[in-house]
Amino acid sequence: MIQSSKHSKSAILLIYTGGTIGMKEDPVEQTLKPFDFEQILSEVPELGKFACKIDSRTFSPLIDSSDVEPSNWLELTRLIEEEYDNYDGFVILHGTDTMAYSASALSFMIEGLTKPVIFTGSQLPIGAPRTDGKENLISAVEIASAKDEQGHARVPEVCICFDNVLMRGNRTTKINADNFRAFRSANWPLLAEAGISIKYNTPAIRIPEDWNSKPIFHNKLDTRVSILKIHPGITPSVVREILCGTQTRAVIIETYGAGNAPSKGWFLSMVREAAAMGKILLNVTQCIAGGVNMEIYATGKGLKEAGVVNGYDSTTESALAKLFYLMGEIESDTDVKKYLETNLRGEISK
Ligand code: ASP
Repeated sequence: MIQSSKHSKSAILLIYTGGTIGMKEDPVEQTLKPFDFEQILSEVPELGKFACKIDSRTFSPLIDSSDVEPSNWLELTRLIEEEYDNYDGFVILHGTDTMAYSASALSFMIEGLTKPVIFTGSQLPIGAPRTDGKENLISAVEIASAKDEQGHARVPEVCICFDNVLMRGNRTTKINADNFRAFRSANWPLLAEAGISIKYNTPAIRIPEDWNSKPIFHNKLDTRVSILKIHPGITPSVVREILCGTQTRAVIIETYGAGNAPSKGWFLSMVREAAAMGKILLNVTQCIAGGVNMEIYATGKGLKEAGVVNGYDSTTESALAKLFYLMGEIESDTDVKKYLETNLRGEISK
């Protein structure tokens, strides 16, 4: 535990799950390996200057986020639930590869959030000379502890803080494997920007209906989802395998542009066949920005008529997490479809 304050104002729980931010080079194997979290803290003495108490928890074992599973989301949610009354905000250090999935998942699994849950990580290990990890961590802690004049959290949302910008978690996608600006929120404005000071974009930030009520923590996930990414040359056998597979309850169809798919007879009849089998079919666009409108082109209309649900401007990461959450909570497919088209946590513009 780090006690870093003379006048404790806020208490932050830092949860270290793994990822590049806590890596160092293994001189023998010449690969990056995770190291003890205490070493991250010694790398960032600036954290001691905050007027807040910072406690930490470390995942054991630490995980490269490419290994993240829904069980890790359940673990994070459980930890936040257990510690909810003890802290003013939560900072989750996580690998960048699946950070957008994890942030999306937690946004659905915690309903009625009144405190910040800020994910961050880095492209370079925190010990590296040009690391982005320090800045990301310091900004995340500052944002997680920020309060307004009424004493309410400035950002009571699940967010990603990266390269001086704060984004709604369920709107983000990892868009760059090299640059420090690794994430993008194409369909929702930034929630805050860190320059000389941190500027909050208050109108874009969601606030809870009741600041005093405790969130509902959901812990049931149904992962029977697959993703069909449409591409030129896709064959009937591949489409059938994904759309009509017996192990899935839902299929996300990643379509072109405004929600378009091939207009060929075999394609639409397979979509109809999957719908008749009772599959929940959700249309999201492959485009990084903008969303689905199944009214514009005949190809999109065909999907709508076949019973495909509109994913609007959802990211694929958010669509997947939302399906896991809704299907875990709700038995009726009709209700799952209704909520898919409902804006629950600011994940779609509707
Ligand atoms: N593979 C790493 C991970 O996602 C990359 C990173 O941390 O950015 O855990």
